Amino acid sequence: MIVFENVGYRYGVGPEVLHDISMSIGAGSFHFLTGPSGAGKSTLLGLMHLRLRPTRGYLTLFGQEIGALRRRERPALRRRIGIVYQDFRLLDHLSVFDNVALPLRLAREREREIKRNVTEILTWVGLGNSLNASPRALSGGEQQRVAIARAVVNRPSLLLADEPTGSVDDTIGFRIMRLFEELHRLGSSVVVATHNKSL
Ligand code: ADP
Repeated sequence: MIVFENVGYRYGVGPEVLHDISMSIGAGSFHFLTGPSGAGKSTLLGLMHLRLRPTRGYLTLFGQEIGALRRRERPALRRRIGIVYQDFRLLDHLSVFDNVALPLRLAREREREIKRNVTEILTWVGLGNSLNASPRALSGGEQQRVAIARAVVNRPSLLLADEPTGSVDDTIGFRIMRLFEELHRLGSSVVVATHNKSL
């Protein structure tokens, strides 16, 4: 699903923050990416999500070499990837429901299906009563759960999560991991970056 061959990455003219990464992530696998803050976990996820391009080496995603990819080919690949950002990146002008519905609307799903799936996943993460709320009215932990619901709602082939349990208590953290396991059981590959070894 993802193959790195001698990949290096540097921000601008700075030092190389990732060097000689060679690894593969198989279809249907589950990985933890661990290491202290500053080790390069977010950068590695940025490469897997096509937000960043390797400054050296080869990266293949879903069988396509990223260096050879045209700009217009990128969105279709990215739609197969669900991502949970450390800072959530919810859209404040949309309701909780509409934030989570976004990937399904981009995929042109039917509204009836969208309503069913979005309500189901938000109930699962314990936010069934906040469908119409603004993300701004929610706590950090609740916003994190909305971000997770948005990342998994269209059953992506690949789920990338950056510190997905950083803002929630242990009970919710456990629930979130269950959700990822469930997605994995349905065939998705999952990569969870965390510095929390107990996870
Ligand atoms: P982690 O996610 O493991 O905390 P990061 O991938 O965020 O690590 O950071 C890896 C290294 O890259 C750090 O030295 C960090 O300072 C640097 N870095 C991260 N983002 C940028 C950026 N936008 N510009 C310059 N350097 C960056």
